[in-house]
Amino acid sequence: MSITIDLSEKRALVMGVANARSLGWAIAERLLQAGCHVGFSYQGERLKGELEKLTAGYDNTWIQQCDATSEEELTALFSRVKDEFGQLDFLVHSIGFAPKAAMDGRFIDTTSDDWNTALNVSAYTLVSAARHAEPLMPDGGSVVSLTFQASQRVVPKYNVMGAAKAALEAATRYLSVDLGERQIRVNTISAGPMRTIAARSIPAFAMLYSNAADNAPLGRNPTPQEVGDLGLYLLSDLSTGITGQTIYVDSGASVVTVKPPEMASKDDTAQ
Ligand code: NAP
Repeated sequence: MSITIDLSEKRALVMGVANARSLGWAIAERLLQAGCHVGFSYQGERLKGELEKLTAGYDNTWIQQCDATSEEELTALFSRVKDEFGQLDFLVHSIGFAPKAAMDGRFIDTTSDDWNTALNVSAYTLVSAARHAEPLMPDGGSVVSLTFQASQRVVPKYNVMGAAKAALEAATRYLSVDLGERQIRVNTISAGPMRTIAARSIPAFAMLYSNAADNAPLGRNPTPQEVGDLGLYLLSDLSTGITGQTIYVDSGASVVTVKPPEMASKDDTAQ
């Protein structure tokens, strides 16, 4: 069976691509392969050159700087969306940040400033971006963001980002109700650990990465391409009945608490 997805009539905004390893880029690549027109926003001038290189081979793209926490810059970004596209079909939010100090220590020591920064950048920006996108989606649309299972269970050193991801997942549910009437769907992808720039700021990432692969039913971590495939599915009309959901692409790691006995070493099982 072969299914071809033609998105040549569709327009997307992808927020938060730092380089070719970014999960936002994994989704954008799938959109571009399907012919979609894609606008990109990046936070700082530092990333402009990288994004220019990534999009160089595509003539249906444009890029614009936008710090997603700035209402002024968001207004300018969505005004550009209107000028370029007229209207919008897809919004991809692939943004996360927490101050280093909040990831290094104990969760209990999180300062109010660090809490506010992490939740503002990593969760509230989904709400504000969706609010700007809503009037540009008169024919319905689809909004997708990225989350991590540390929203549900404690992951060492993920700290305040766990709270931020819980807020992002809750926001996804509330936004799905506000926007459902207009046939705008809102979902979040819970991805397994991937080696990206953002992942480097998680102090115990190497351990987290190997544990997730060891425990996953598929015996490996998912690939960015698999995140891209799920993104394409959730954005396209293949998923028109799905909204408000957190959907996992983690090789099944989130359903396992301990390694099944047949996978454990002798030492693990010896009493
Ligand atoms: P990434 O390539 O570093 O992407 C994160 C992006 O967020 C960067 O482009 C970063 O820009 C941007 N950003 C941070 N603050 C911003 C702001 N105020 N305004 C606009 N953009 C801002 O890392 P990634 O892993 O692909 O992260 C994308 C999403 O996937 C995040 O939500 C992350 O939590 C989620 N996720 C990642 C993993 C993983 O293991 N990597 C797993 C599950 C979910 P700067 O570089 O300029 O800061």
